[in-house]
Amino acid sequence: SIPLLAIDGGGTKCLVIFMDRQGNVLGQGKGGSSNYQGIGKDGAMRELVFGIEEAIADLRQKDDSALPQEEIEVECAVFALAGLDTEYDRRVITGLVQEVLEQLPIRVQHLIVENDGYAALLGATGGQPGILAIAGTGSIIFGINEQGQTARAGGWGHRVGDEGSGYWIGKQAVMAILKAYDGREEGTRLGDWVLPHLGMDQEEDLFNWMYGPDYSVEKLSELSRVVGQAASAGDREAQRILEAAAHELFIGVAAVVRRLSFLDKPFTMILQGGVLQNEGHVRELLMNKIKAYAPQVQLDEARKEPIYGVTAMGLSYLQTKTSTE
Ligand code: BGC
Repeated sequence: SIPLLAIDGGGTKCLVIFMDRQGNVLGQGKGGSSNYQGIGKDGAMRELVFGIEEAIADLRQKDDSALPQEEIEVECAVFALAGLDTEYDRRVITGLVQEVLEQLPIRVQHLIVENDGYAALLGATGGQPGILAIAGTGSIIFGINEQGQTARAGGWGHRVGDEGSGYWIGKQAVMAILKAYDGREEGTRLGDWVLPHLGMDQEEDLFNWMYGPDYSVEKLSELSRVVGQAASAGDREAQRILEAAAHELFIGVAAVVRRLSFLDKPFTMILQGGVLQNEGHVRELLMNKIKAYAPQVQLDEARKEPIYGVTAMGLSYLQTKTSTE
């Protein structure tokens, strides 16, 4: 049997890893967005099946001798998925994951289903007091204190939340371009960056795209990278949007700091997701705000990938299982 199947599913991609007990990767695969709030249940299931099938193929290619061709027995599977925000989501997603597993030649002995941010937090802090801010396609802030209490802020999906995320930045950019187009705002050249990126030459095409069949949460989110480039080149509107994104994320971090009583205690700050890893601007702006609010904060420089938290959760389950056997 294979000890661990770990899946980190965000708003743009899901990463799949098979692992042994020592933490060696045995096979890996990748699918698209697995957030059912963004692309629907069927879409999320399709991408999870795709990513896991790819990982199975990789696993078999690397080690065909030890593996039966039919069914793979997995001791523990951890699905850490964006879109798991409420108990209702937990029921929907657990059902969805079970359907996914039924479509695959896999038998899972123990299944763990969690929010992606929660899993990444535990992996990065190892249970020590800390706060994780993720800003990728979506965003969320999660913290844990000495007593093991957790608190979350934001992350309420693209329709009513995800402030400071790639999606949110992309939407602010489109709004700014349309404001400039109809004369409500002057002086932004953001359109000169965004329109060519999408292969368009006029603002109305951008508007039509937003309501057309090619629009998706993740495509809008990709624009955040263009906003980052425009900001680096000195575009004031792009800089304002990134500053606002950092501020929104800071509000979430400050709420978690207060709820976990971190104001006078040391804690580690972990920053993950494309917006906080790739674009220097938001990362730096956010850290400056947090340092002004809670100077004792320690920035975690390890920059571990979120999947590390997912595998850590699985390995820790396997360890307790072995020690109680
Ligand atoms: C989702 C959360 C998720 C966050 C980060 C949000 O869109 O609603 O469940 O944790 O993105 O991926």
